[in-house]
Amino acid sequence: MAKATRKRAVVVGGSMSGLLAGLLLRRADWRVDIFERVESPLSGRGAGIVAQAELIARLRALGLDTQGLGVSITTRKILNRKGEVTLETSCPQVLTAWERVYRLLRDAFPAENYHRGRAFVAFEQAGRGVVVHFADGEKIECDLLVGADGIRSNVRGRGLPDVVPRYVGYSAWRALIAESAIPPATHRDLFDFMSFGLPPGEQFLVYPVAGPDNDLRVGHRRFNMVWYRPADEATKLQWLLTDESGATHAISIPPPLIRRDAIAEMRADAERLLAPQFREIVRLVEEPILQPIYDLETPRMAVGRVAILGDAAFVARPHVAAGVSKAADDAAALVEALSRHDDVEEALRAFEAARLPENRRIIERARHLGAFLQATRNEEEQARAGRHSTDAAVISETATLDFLYA
Ligand SMILES: Cc1cc2nc3c(=O)[nH]c(=O)nc-3n(C[C@H](O)[C@H](O)[C@H](O)COP(=O)(O)OP(=O)(O)OC[C@H]3O[C@@H](n4cnc5c(N)ncnc54)[C@H](O)[C@@H]3O)c2cc1C
Repeated sequence: MAKATRKRAVVVGGSMSGLLAGLLLRRADWRVDIFERVESPLSGRGAGIVAQAELIARLRALGLDTQGLGVSITTRKILNRKGEVTLETSCPQVLTAWERVYRLLRDAFPAENYHRGRAFVAFEQAGRGVVVHFADGEKIECDLLVGADGIRSNVRGRGLPDVVPRYVGYSAWRALIAESAIPPATHRDLFDFMSFGLPPGEQFLVYPVAGPDNDLRVGHRRFNMVWYRPADEATKLQWLLTDESGATHAISIPPPLIRRDAIAEMRADAERLLAPQFREIVRLVEEPILQPIYDLETPRMAVGRVAILGDAAFVARPHVAAGVSKAADDAAALVEALSRHDDVEEALRAFEAARLPENRRIIERARHLGAFLQATRNEEEQARAGRHSTDAAVISETATLDFLYA
């Protein structure tokens, strides 16, 4: 009898936010189906993520086993151009891989309710429900639609068409390097740490993550490299996004298509600007990824019975490392509001009121930390750039959420 009255949720997007919301809704006794556009199993975009303490706590609260979640480090340091350590600080953290967290969540969600190769196209709100339309023509009626469909969210696009990502004036070169390839002296200097290089107006960063298939054995892990470099949107970014055949890509460029002279320029600049240990890492990079950095900020996270969360609602520049823990907090706030309010629309208003201010703080903080990397800056950004580009600021402010809980 109780089963017949269970409320039904449709979640669009089967990545982190969708799975977190799906798992929490199920625990709150909702009927939940997740619809993921991509047909094949999702796999990481080859980068590490910082498993913030808040995220680990959320995963544990879901009953998930977080043992061996990633590589634990205790110390951060900054190296100057000569390779000398100019600053060192203690900052214990767990560094994991996207796949590891995704797998944990995916394995906990029932396979029969996770539908791959199913793209959302539209919704309409009618009476006391939402009708959700899929590309294959199917329509599903539900009590709640959750848009967890990432930065280019179609769910957001239907309700809030003017909210679009904004390029911030710099891009990141990223790569993963096999631990076993790193020469012993450089391994000793760098591998067990999060290390920064700070050429003027730039930021180079390396830290260890698990190896393929979450291998945490010494010698089998990987080193994650990120190098933020200014790239003016009209000129340099266009050049970087133009491939060997002359075609310009709109948002990002597939790694095999990145022009050879752009990679050669990056390598030559590494020799000119970075510490010898970092140069050695760059020399080991086989196929770098180029990631233009975007901000996204929505004024609404709820439209009637439609909630949007995770990257569909807010995307912060990577410096605060908040992507997955912010998605987990959104999902938890949504389900908490639904458990307090019987009326779905009322619950969504409460969810929005709880999450908008915190998400805005995260976006703002990330803007402040990244201001010094922008190709151009207004006066206010110039002031922020000064405050957040010092060695002391970079080493203590990057990839921590202390500002939220201070
Ligand atoms: C395959 C993949 C790999 C990633 N790898 C990394 C990484 O290595 N490091 C890192 O820091 N971050 C990575 N991210 C980003 C990271 O997951 C997010 O920043 C963060 O976890 C918030 O996730 P999200 O679920 O809100 O959005 P996303 O992770 O972007 O997920 C959105 C999901 O919605 C799906 N979707 C989009 N449109 C539709 C539609 N119309 N119908 C149905 N489904 C749709 C997408 O296919 C995607 O799976 C990755 C994301 C994906 C999808």
